[in-house]
Amino acid sequence: MVTLCAMRFALCYFLTNDMEAPKESKIEIKAIRGFSDILPDQVGKWQFVEATAREVFEGFGFSEMRIPILERTELFTRGIGEATDIVEKEMYTFTDRGGNSLTLRPEATASLARAYLEHQMYTFDPVAKLYTIGPMFRYERPQKGRFRQFYQIDAEVFGVENPVADAEVIIMLVRFLERVGLEKLELQINSLGCRACRPGYREELRNFLTKKSFGLCEDCQRRLQANPLRIFDCKVETCQEAIADAPKVVDFICPECQGRFDQVKENLNMAGLSYVLNPRMVRGLDYYTRTAFEVVSYQLGSQNAVTGGGRYDNLFQEIGGLDVPGIGFAIGMERLISLLPEEKKFIRYPHLFVAALGEEGFKEACRLVNQLHLQGVWAELDYERKSLKSQMRRANKLNARYALILGEEELKQGKAVLRDMEGKTQEEIPMEGLIDTLRKRI
Ligand SMILES: [Zn+2]
Ligand SMILES: [Zn+2]
Repeated sequence: MVTLCAMRFALCYFLTNDMEAPKESKIEIKAIRGFSDILPDQVGKWQFVEATAREVFEGFGFSEMRIPILERTELFTRGIGEATDIVEKEMYTFTDRGGNSLTLRPEATASLARAYLEHQMYTFDPVAKLYTIGPMFRYERPQKGRFRQFYQIDAEVFGVENPVADAEVIIMLVRFLERVGLEKLELQINSLGCRACRPGYREELRNFLTKKSFGLCEDCQRRLQANPLRIFDCKVETCQEAIADAPKVVDFICPECQGRFDQVKENLNMAGLSYVLNPRMVRGLDYYTRTAFEVVSYQLGSQNAVTGGGRYDNLFQEIGGLDVPGIGFAIGMERLISLLPEEKKFIRYPHLFVAALGEEGFKEACRLVNQLHLQGVWAELDYERKSLKSQMRRANKLNARYALILGEEELKQGKAVLRDMEGKTQEEIPMEGLIDTLRKRI
């Protein structure tokens, strides 16, 4: 009887969408504003992006490093610079029980640099190519696509002054973005000058903007004195107008900076990468010098900055006194992932649902599922031993690729029913060699 029922039922089974509509959550404690959960149906994209980063970066000779989420506040005030938005208004800073001022890392470069110095990595080899992936924290105004806990993929080369490294890092970045599947990418580059030539430009810019200072917002009035380059990053329209025809930093860089910039461009050409010069890209952080770059995507019509980075030959002196050059980039993962298509390959479904009937069937299902798990086959079964109808409903809800129906009668005959949930066909297959048969299909 069971056999007949199983066969007939499975044959007549039609896919139905009888999932209950989600009810409004009654939970009182919710996630903090700006902090979000990445649910299982989204996590596939994250895993794909992270795995691709690891593969591409390690191919370029980069090693992963994992760094703490908390650091001494001083690391960021000295490393990033006091007069930046990050340090002035966006850091999660608190005093711990021991009276130390600690900060949730707002970015990764300063921590990687600290670790490089602390572990004297330069004694083994002055050149370190490092990457890290993880959450960063900034107290920004929450808005669509912006989070207070956000994720970055960060890569840095420490200990190389030669601009060949600049080009290498940029090439790796662009190749990574292409491998992930982003389209309509534009690489923008600029040179920000060095300690010798940048002050001259800063003065020039300050003089230029002082004449227009009535048009600047309150923040930029202050920036005008502290760091006028940061006015380029201001989103206020009148500020944008004020800097529209401001002098360009590339017109003021010294011959050495110019020579290095030329070499970066030459190496990019050699690698077949096209780029545009963006003289208005100055980067918000104080520690950047010389090469600066951004990659923007036009995939969604408008321009979306996906990532940016640059050279920072002064950072190490700020935090540790050693003169170590560095270059790197940070990719905002939320933005990157928002540009990926909703593809099936990013969602995991069970390969197999094992529906069992009767005592023997359930035992056999448990045994089989355990074996399949060890072979990397995602197999699910019904833990509550419900009716076949309800088991098949669950198989359908989980989007299982196949269902294996173990009826008692069929088991006695050494057989089972394998149902193709997509093609809606089914067949009897022998229990002997079942795992091999399943693995061939899955
Ligand atoms: Zn210079
Ligand atoms: Zn402004």
